[in-house]
Amino acid sequence: MANIGFIGLGIMGRPMSINLMKAGHTLAVYDVVPALVDAAVTAGAARGESCRDVASRSEIVITMLPDGPEVEQAMLGAGGVLEGARRGTVVVDMSSISPLVSQKVGAACAGKGVDFLDAPVSGGEPKAVEGTLAIMVGGDAAVFEKMAPVLKSMGSSVTLTGPVGAGNVTKLANQIMVACNIAAMGEALVLATRAGLDPEVVFNAVKGGLAGSAVLNAKAPMAIARNFQPGFRIRLHQKDLRNALLAAEAMKVALPLTSLVQQELVGLMNAGKGDCDHSAIVTFVEGLAGIEIKRPQ
Ligand code: NAD
Repeated sequence: MANIGFIGLGIMGRPMSINLMKAGHTLAVYDVVPALVDAAVTAGAARGESCRDVASRSEIVITMLPDGPEVEQAMLGAGGVLEGARRGTVVVDMSSISPLVSQKVGAACAGKGVDFLDAPVSGGEPKAVEGTLAIMVGGDAAVFEKMAPVLKSMGSSVTLTGPVGAGNVTKLANQIMVACNIAAMGEALVLATRAGLDPEVVFNAVKGGLAGSAVLNAKAPMAIARNFQPGFRIRLHQKDLRNALLAAEAMKVALPLTSLVQQELVGLMNAGKGDCDHSAIVTFVEGLAGIEIKRPQ
C-alpha cells in the first residue's frame, strides 16, 4: 500500500480517489476548489495545501485535471508537483491532454529523476465510480509494471500502449472514432427520418450488421428519445478533437473528418450546447436539414 497524492477532485477524480482509498492506499489530496478538498477529507483523505505539498508527502502523485494548461500549471508551475517531488517519485497524469504536453511534462520529470506515465481513461463517471475504467498508458515498461496494481484499483483494463505520450495518442484515437461515428449516425438518421422512416426501426434494422457499434447502441436511442443529458459533454469532446488536430499538425498528418466534426462541436458550443451529451452532435445535422430525429407520431 502506498502514500498517494491525488490532485484534481472533479467529476472523475473524486470517485477515482475514493477507489484508491477503498483499495487501502493512504491519500493526500488537493484541488483549487476548497469544497472538493473538504469532501475528500470527509471521505478519509488528508488535506493538501498545494500541488507541491501533496507531492512532498507522497511516493506516487496522480493528477486528473481538465486539459494541458492546467496540467502544466500543476506540474511545472510555482508551487507545483515538481517542486515537491523527489528522485524516485512516480507521477501519473490521468487527464486527457495533448500528447505533446505529456512529453514536455515527462521530460521535465526525467530531468529531476522523477518517473512519469500518461494514463488517460475512457468510461466516464459511472465507470470511475465502479472502478472499471479503461486506462491507456504511455511510459517506461518497468514503471508501468510497478504502477499497474495501483491503476487496477481504478480500472478493469490497463494497457501499456508505448512510450510517454502514447496513452494520450491512444485516447485521441478513441475520441476521433467516437465523434466521427456519432456525426455519421446523425447524418444517416436525419436522412432516414426525412424519407418518412421511423429512426428506431432503422436503428434496429442496422445494428446487427456492419454499421453496428457500441457508439450506435449507446447514442442512437438517446438521439431518438431527445435525451441529451451528459454523459460526456460536448465541450470536453471539442477539447479532445482540438488536441488531436494540434498533435496531427505537429506530425504533419491531415485529419479532414476530425477537423469537420471539431468545427461542428465549436458551433454547438456557441449555440449553448456545450454541456449537452456528445450525442447532441446529431443536432448539428438536424439544424442543416430543419428536421429532428424522432419517431413518427
Ligand atoms: P472536472 O472539471 O470535473 O475536474 C477537474 C478538476 O481539476 C476540477 O475540480 C478543478 O477544480 C481541478 N483543477 C483545475 N486546475 C487545477 C490545478 N491547477 N490544481 C489543482 N486542481 C485543479 O473534469 P473531469 O470531468 O473530472 O475530467 C478530468 C479529465 O478526465 C479531463 O481531461 C477529461 O477530458 C477526462 N475525462 C472525462 C470524462 C468524463 O466523462 N467526465 C471521461 C473520460 C475522461
